[in-house]
Amino acid sequence: MRDYYDILGVSRSATLEEIKAAYRKLALQYHPDRNPGNKEAEERFKEVAEAYAVLSDPEKRALYDRYGHSGLQSGGAAAPHFSTLEDVFRYFADLLSDDFFGGLFGSPSSETRHRTQSEPGTDIRIRLRLSLEEIAHGAEKTVELSRWNSCSACGGSGSRSGKTQMCPQCHGRGEVQHVSRSLFGHVIQIVTCSTCGGSGQLLIDPCPKCHGGGRVREKATVTVRIPPGVAEGYYLTLRGEGNAGQRKAPTGNLIVIIEEVEHPLFQRDGSDIHATLTVSFAEAALGATVKVPTIWGITSIQLKPGTQPGATIRLPEQGLPAIDSHKRGDHYVHISIYVPEQLTAEERKLLEQLVQHPNFQPPGQRNAKFRRSKGTLWGKVRETWSP
Ligand SMILES: [Zn+2]
Ligand SMILES: [Zn+2]
Repeated sequence: MRDYYDILGVSRSATLEEIKAAYRKLALQYHPDRNPGNKEAEERFKEVAEAYAVLSDPEKRALYDRYGHSGLQSGGAAAPHFSTLEDVFRYFADLLSDDFFGGLFGSPSSETRHRTQSEPGTDIRIRLRLSLEEIAHGAEKTVELSRWNSCSACGGSGSRSGKTQMCPQCHGRGEVQHVSRSLFGHVIQIVTCSTCGGSGQLLIDPCPKCHGGGRVREKATVTVRIPPGVAEGYYLTLRGEGNAGQRKAPTGNLIVIIEEVEHPLFQRDGSDIHATLTVSFAEAALGATVKVPTIWGITSIQLKPGTQPGATIRLPEQGLPAIDSHKRGDHYVHISIYVPEQLTAEERKLLEQLVQHPNFQPPGQRNAKFRRSKGTLWGKVRETWSP
């Protein structure tokens, strides 16, 4: 019998990783998919598999290192004997991790390899619309939803008596293997056992309320606490508030996605708030104390005499709280000046009088001389340039 280390071409002090890598390489080289009908390759393929089976198992390797082939025979940790290719595939289907074999030979995907227990509960996503005021203060919202809850009659086990028996189809493994030989080589398929649904157990006495599923569809009320300062698109995850899994499988989460309702007065920019305040011409010219709404309530601001349209007044820390600190943003009041759209005869007369006064002319036109010269200039230009 050949030495296992020689077969894999590794030293006696090789690490598990090195052994794995060597096996990968050789298995790929002698794989029957690549050597159809080649008897010698088949033998080599079985040989490297046997060497790998021993050297990748610490207990078997230790016995082999001390006593050689005879150690394995007498030590009760026998080396697997692969008489057919199916033996190799069957053996490694159990032994190897997902992508080792799967990646090499395109065997079943990782999902089908995992032993599927009862189906876990899925997440539930809901959208929650919040006003800016709610975002400022934080909110507690009660939401109603329909979800899978653990069955109260059987405690989620799915069985009335709690008794189960081993699934006769898969012998409790939850999955079954199909090894078939095709034109292109061997195809192993590991599929979830259809008899027990992957749990490996059959219920002897299914719960009449949930019909053995361990969960029932119910209306649920969930309280969601939203911290101050959230924004559109933020989401909160409420662990374990999603759908219950089948027969005590893990429960999903409830994911609450925040939506921001547009505010009639305020525009949000991060934690700052912007608002427009329209004042009369007289208030802007004379100065005034004006009440303005902020997210925290009504406050008074002082307009100084001669306030211009487009002026901005900043109210520090009157904006929204930042979600990650105790700081608040600012509230900005942007001044706009109201110009009447209609005038009575009297109003018109008064304005016409007022506008004669020097301070009512925009700067640059206050100087009568300047205005005249500009007019003259324009007159000339127009004369010159008119066609
Ligand atoms: Zn039940
Ligand atoms: Zn089964």
